[in-house]
Amino acid sequence: MKKKSNTLTFMLLVLLVGAGAFLAWMWNTSRGEDIEDSQGSSSSDITSSLTSSQPEESESSSSSDSSESTDPTSDQDWALMLVNKDHPLDADYTVDMLQLDEGYYVDARIYDAVQEMLAAARAEGLSPLVCSAYRSYERQTVLYDNKVAEYLAMGYGEAQAKEEAARWVTLPGTSEHQTGLALDIVSSSFQVLDNRQADTPEQKWLMAHCHEYGFILRYPSDKEDVTQITYEPWHYRYVGKEAAKEIMEQGLCLEEYLES
Ligand SMILES: [Zn+2]
Repeated sequence: MKKKSNTLTFMLLVLLVGAGAFLAWMWNTSRGEDIEDSQGSSSSDITSSLTSSQPEESESSSSSDSSESTDPTSDQDWALMLVNKDHPLDADYTVDMLQLDEGYYVDARIYDAVQEMLAAARAEGLSPLVCSAYRSYERQTVLYDNKVAEYLAMGYGEAQAKEEAARWVTLPGTSEHQTGLALDIVSSSFQVLDNRQADTPEQKWLMAHCHEYGFILRYPSDKEDVTQITYEPWHYRYVGKEAAKEIMEQGLCLEEYLES
């Protein structure tokens, strides 16, 4: 009898420890995913250039021709696909994906370029770490809805909660991560998504060399008014070598390059 109850106690303990470890793992996993660029949610020095963003406008945009969804199938220049608030992607946009070592997926057509760039950085003794890449419409919806729920819980009205949420989390369909052509890369030794990321040797190297592999720094500090996205010294976007060279050397952003 005594022995049996000891065995039971032991099994209970094992179960509890197991459940605890599982919860801790879940917590870490979801946190890691949530970092991404919900426009620098972990950043303390956000100078929001997004105050003009009205979620209702983005969702119901019936006013202008610039709000047409990107049509990837007819686009020979797939690498120059523009996705932003005025150019949302369809919810069902999909492409062939390949998985990186870090577990994230990218458009299969840029897989080699990503690997080459990371290998070149590592050959210089650097430690770049991919912390986000492809993100589905559904995943973005969850991130956005969670943020809205936070504001509702704080007592905001629905319209205001949506507006506030949109300042922190990109609206579903308007995140470039849904294309599979964008990556967030940080320094292994500094994994915080804020302006200090720009000072790491990894970012300095990437900013100087990314165009050699067809990538651009997508949201530069001096283009916030054009991109409508706060400076992100970790978000790289594949556009092809030719465009990347021109964009980085002339100090443009993708919107400006496509207009010219
Ligand atoms: Zn990003």
